[in-house]
Parts: sequence; C-alpha cells; structure tokens
Amino acid sequence: GELGYELYKDFPRRKPVKRPLRIAILTREPKNYSSQRLKEAAEAKGHVAEMINTARCTMAINALSPAVFYDGRKLPRYDAVIPRIGASLTDYGMAVLRQFEMTGAYILNSAPAIGASRDKLYAHQVLARAGIGMPTTAFAHSPKDTKNLISHVGGAPLVVKLLESTQGKGVVLAETAKAAESVIDAFRGLEANFIVQEFVKEAAGEDIRALVVGGKVVAAMKRKAQAGEFRSNLHRGGEAMRVKLTKEERATALRAAKAMGLAVAGVDLLRSDTGPKVLEVNSSPGLEGIEKTSGKDVAGLLIDHIEAHVRTMTGPPRRR
Ligand code: ADP
Repeated sequence: GELGYELYKDFPRRKPVKRPLRIAILTREPKNYSSQRLKEAAEAKGHVAEMINTARCTMAINALSPAVFYDGRKLPRYDAVIPRIGASLTDYGMAVLRQFEMTGAYILNSAPAIGASRDKLYAHQVLARAGIGMPTTAFAHSPKDTKNLISHVGGAPLVVKLLESTQGKGVVLAETAKAAESVIDAFRGLEANFIVQEFVKEAAGEDIRALVVGGKVVAAMKRKAQAGEFRSNLHRGGEAMRVKLTKEERATALRAAKAMGLAVAGVDLLRSDTGPKVLEVNSSPGLEGIEKTSGKDVAGLLIDHIEAHVRTMTGPPRRR
C-alpha cells in the first residue's frame, strides 16, 4: 500500500549482494563441463550451488505459495536459478523456470527468452526486426514452387538447414540450382522443417562465437572448418582458436542478445563482406570450448552477474 511504497522509495537498491546465495543449476547433465564449472565458480565465491535435474521437478500450482518439488520434497527458495535446459525438454523446462521465478528467484535467462531463441523461425524474425545483419533466409511450409524459395535467397550456391540441426548435422551446401532443388525436394519429401539461406562464401569455413553476459562480450573464439568443409562445428573436425573481435562484431553480438532478451547468450556470426552476419543466438552456450580457447573465467563472470541481479531485500516490508 501507500506506506510500503514510501518506504521502498527511501531504500534504493543496494550494489551487488555479497551474502552467500543459494543457487540452483537446472540441468539434466550435472557432470558436464559447464555444469561443473558453474558449481565450482559459485562455491569459490562463497555461495551454495545445487544441481537440479529439470526432469525430476514437479510443480504445485496455486496462487498462495508457488513451489517446486523435487523427488516429492519441496525445494528451498533459491536466490537464483541458472537454466541449462536441453532442447529436448524446452517446454517443460520453461514451466519449471516460471515456477522458480514465482518463488522470487532471479532467473538467468527468462523462460520467454529461452523459448524465443529455441524457435528458430521466430528468432530469425526477431533479429531481422531489430535490424541485425543475417544471411538472407527464406522458409516455407509447403511451397509448391521450390524455385521461388531458391530465388528468394539469390540463387545457388545456397545452404539448406534442417531446423532441428545441431553440430552441423543437418546443414547442406548446394552448389548449383539443380543440387538445391534436389536437396529441398528431398527434405520436403521427408516432411522435414528447414530453412534456405544465402551461402556466405567469404566466411571461408570460419565462424565466430561471442559470449555475452549482462550486456558485455566477455569472451570470444573463432572456429575454423577442416579442409574441404564449410561447416566449422568442432564436431565436424573444426578447430577453435583465439580471435579479437571488431567493434562492429561486439556491437552486433550485444544487439542480438538484447533483441532476444537474453542476459547470457552465445552469439554465432559469420564475417561477410558486408559486415557481421548472425547465424544463431544460443541461450545455453557451452563453456568448455570458449573458456579453454579464450582463457577467460566465464563461469565466474556469470556468478558475478548473478550477484549483481538477485533480488535484494530493499522492497516494501512484508505484512505480518
Ligand atoms: P548447427 O546449429 O547445426 O551448428 P549452423 O547454422 O550453426 O548449424 O551451421 C553450421 C556451420 O556451417 C556454421 O558454424 C558455419 O561454419 C557454417 N554455415 C552455416 N550457415 C552458413 C551460411 N549461410 N554461409 C556460410 N557458412 C555457413
């Protein structure tokens, strides 16, 4: 009420919280590098970090006391939750996140932002609307005319990508119009969801990963494809190396993360003749490659960001 508001105005937000925090790492892979590093980094700064398996969370949904249960037991209130939700459990993971948010936890990457980044068609539209450079991209549900799709992106050579692609598995380079038609028709025959994209030849098998935390690019790496391959994925034999980003590349990465509403993002971009072109904005970027290549303590920076953003106790006092 009135009184609470006045009190609230008199108590400005404090600077980064230094009390020990209780942090949940929401993951189905507690043993992987990223999860372990986040736990280590939190503990090194005096916090308590617990791995919570998304799939084992249950929720009791009622207005008075939102809670998350784990193997049947009510979880404590966390100051912050770090979502590391895999693509296979995005919807359920987002529901769990929203529930944690209702308990007052600071969520590092909100459910809507994660949802937007996982929906590749929507993500492309959001980035385009924000005026961020991207390879020209076309998609269609069931266009009768494959040739139109090809001409939308300026003809061959072009790239056809399965929307479910990870690790470069569903990414195909079609060098000629004939090849493009065959690939598109084949994907369509399989009822696969795909996009067609301008091939950025001058990227020459290299792409850049910029890691954004809280409005800053905190680390970057370059990935270089092996000879005879245009896909730079490490799983495809690509090699990671240090890179210094240009001002424009940094600005583009920041704008892409901001457009998607992500506090933490791995922004993939290509170096083209007309400036940086964003391929994808990842909401759960892996830390291993980027930490090892850049030598930066990215996990530690993530925890610093949390310290600066957890809800402080300066709001109106609760009625008793
Ligand atoms: P995935 O999500 O499966 O990794 P990407 O879209 O990231 O798929 O593509 C995999 C790799 O292929 C990229 O890292 C990049 O090296 C290369 N690549 C992707 N799209 C293009 C493009 N339009 N032009 C040139 N190279 C591309």
